[in-house]
Amino acid sequence: MSNEFGNSSGASSARARGRVVGVPKRCWCGELVVSLMSKSTANPYRRYFWCAFAAEKRLSNDNHTYKWVDEALLDEVEALSFRIGKLEQTILAERGEEERKKFEELELKLETGICARMEDVMSEAKCEVKKALVLVVLGCLTMVVLSKVI
Ligand SMILES: [Zn+2]
Repeated sequence: MSNEFGNSSGASSARARGRVVGVPKRCWCGELVVSLMSKSTANPYRRYFWCAFAAEKRLSNDNHTYKWVDEALLDEVEALSFRIGKLEQTILAERGEEERKKFEELELKLETGICARMEDVMSEAKCEVKKALVLVVLGCLTMVVLSKVI
C-alpha cells in the first residue's frame, strides 16, 4: 500500500493530465489499474485507482493513471444519468410519434364513419322527400279530379 497521496485532497490537480472519465480500466502505459486504499492522514481509508506499474514501483509525481474511487464512481453515475436522460427523450419522441399516428388513424376512422352516417341520413331524407312529393302530387291530382267531378 502507498502513502503517496497524503497531500492531495480530493481533486488531484497534479495528476489532472490524462484524466479518465469514469472508472479507469487501463493506464496509458498499458498496465491495468488497481484499486488501493489511502493511508494518509488527509484521506484515511479513501480508496483510489492507480496504475499497477506505478503502484508496484511506488512512483511519485508520475503521469500514470490515478483517480479517487468515489470521484470515478460519481463520474459513472453522472454519465449514466446523462445516457438515461437521452434515452428518455428518445422514448418520449418515439411515443409521441406513435400517438400522433394513432390519433390520425382514429381521426380518419371517425371521418369515414361520420361520412357514411351522413350519406345514410341524406339518402333517407331524399326518400322522405320523394314520398312527400308523391303524396303532394297525388293530393293535387285528387283535388283536380274532385273539382271536375263536383
Ligand atoms: Zn501506467
